[in-house]
Amino acid sequence: MAFHAVILTLYPDMFPGPLAYALSGRALQKGIWSFEARYLRDFTRDRHCSVDDRPAGGGPGMVMRADILARAIDAGPLNCPRFLMSPRGDSFNQSLAREISVLKEVLFICGRFEGVDERIIKARNLIEVSIGDYIVSGGEISVFVILDSVVRLLPGVMGNVLSSSDESFETGLLEYPQYTRPRCFENQAIPEILISGNHREVKKWRKEQSESVTQARRSDLWSLYKRKNYDKH
Ligand code: SAH
Repeated sequence: MAFHAVILTLYPDMFPGPLAYALSGRALQKGIWSFEARYLRDFTRDRHCSVDDRPAGGGPGMVMRADILARAIDAGPLNCPRFLMSPRGDSFNQSLAREISVLKEVLFICGRFEGVDERIIKARNLIEVSIGDYIVSGGEISVFVILDSVVRLLPGVMGNVLSSSDESFETGLLEYPQYTRPRCFENQAIPEILISGNHREVKKWRKEQSESVTQARRSDLWSLYKRKNYDKH
């Protein structure tokens, strides 16, 4: 079953952009996923095709109009989650990526200017999603981030299925350090254990490394992990 994304944007030509390359690009060619980038100005009714207007109450910038967004949303699909790219939303993370990756269709709305008229959020049940605590100038980049991480989870996209279940965040831990040839690089050797051929020891080493790097760098993830694994210790 293929995954389809509808993207409402003022810049449809930006898509598929970076998603046309590598893993996501091959998956697109194979039909594992597809998209429609829908041009918001096609839903305007005035001569100037304007999608925005001045903020009520004054202040800088422009706000995207609810009526135009509503028409673009109502063009369908109607029975799928609708995500509004927004710095005020819940933070996008790996578990939301997993949730989205099992859906058939999803709609993404890319904000521009100062954002969108608040009323569209309630009127069309939009789920606000943020890609982090910083501001980018438009929702398109946020959609690239989200789609990239979703597409790599679709069945048939990652060659090595195991490699995704071992990654940072999937286990609740950050990833262990990785090495490849040459065996010695500028006086730094690959840790002996990794070339020992002892798979059990390698696995144990990696787990310890994951735990210590998570503990050192991400106390938030570490306390969650400890709580979840309390019974096992
Ligand atoms: N005035 C807004 C920022 C608008 S940026 C504020 O202060 O919150 C313009 C658009 O870029 C937003 O409507 C949103 O769609 C997108 N955007 C900006 N930062 C984002 C983020 N961290 N996550 C998701 N989308 C973001």
